[in-house]
Amino acid sequence: MRFDIMTLFPDLVNTVLGESIIGRAQKSGAVEINTYNIRDYSEDKHRRVDDTPYGGGKGMLMMAPPIYNCYSAILEKQKEVGFEPESRRVVYMSPAGKVLDQKKAEELSKLDNVIILCGHYEGVDRRIIDEIVDEEISIGDFVLTGGEIPATILVDAVSRLLPGVLSDPECYEKESISSGMLEYPQYTRPYEFHGVKVPDVLISGHHANIDKWRDETARELTEKNRPDLLEGKK
Ligand code: SAM
Repeated sequence: MRFDIMTLFPDLVNTVLGESIIGRAQKSGAVEINTYNIRDYSEDKHRRVDDTPYGGGKGMLMMAPPIYNCYSAILEKQKEVGFEPESRRVVYMSPAGKVLDQKKAEELSKLDNVIILCGHYEGVDRRIIDEIVDEEISIGDFVLTGGEIPATILVDAVSRLLPGVLSDPECYEKESISSGMLEYPQYTRPYEFHGVKVPDVLISGHHANIDKWRDETARELTEKNRPDLLEGKK
C-alpha cells in the first residue's frame, strides 16, 4: 500500500513514521510512504502558501493553488513510476471530519493508495476540499495546530493492519477495540514486582482457564472504562 502525504512539515511526518515498526515496514516494502512539501508547489516567488480569509476573521488559510499543484504532481509521479492503483482515497485530516476508529482503519487498509492532506493555520480553502478530497477524517474531538500528527496516527493505525507489518495478525485481532472489547491485563517477567505476583492462573499452564480468566478480566475492564463497547452485547 502506498501513502502520499501533502504537508508543510514533511520532516515532522518522516521522523515519526521513520522509526520503529512503521519505519521497518517501509524498509521491507510492506508499506510505501512519500511526503511532499506543499510549499514547493507555491506559485509565489516567496513560496507563500497562506493568505487571509475572505470575509475577515482571525488567522490565515492555506491557499488552494499550491495544494492543487502538489496533488497533481503526486498523480504525475505515480504515473511516472508505473503505479496505477485500482483503489485510491484522498483524505483531509480535519477536526470537522468523522472521528477515526478501527473500522475506518480496516476499510482504508484494503485500498492501494491513500493521499493525505495536512492542514495548518485556520485550515484550507474550502474549494480544495470540494475538488480533490473524498473524505475528512478527525482523530478526536479536540483541535490541534496541524494535520501532521493526525496523519501519522492514521498511517500508523492503517499500516499495522497490512500483511508483513506485524509479526502475527493475532497481534491486532485480539487486542483492544478490534476484538470488540478492551484487551485483558498482561504480565511479563519478573514474576513478582513491588510485592505483586503474576496471577496464578497465568502460570498454571491450563489454557482453558487462562482463556476464561482473560475473557472475564477483559469484560470487567471494558465495563469500567468503555461500557459503550458492550452495548448490545449483553
Ligand atoms: N479552523 C479549523 C476548524 O475549526 O475546523 C481548525 C484548523 S486546525 C487549527 C489546523 C489543522 O490542523 C487542520 O486544518 C487539520 O488539518 C489539523 N487538525 C486539527 N485538529 C485535528 C483533529 N482533531 N483531527 C484531524 N486533524 C486536525
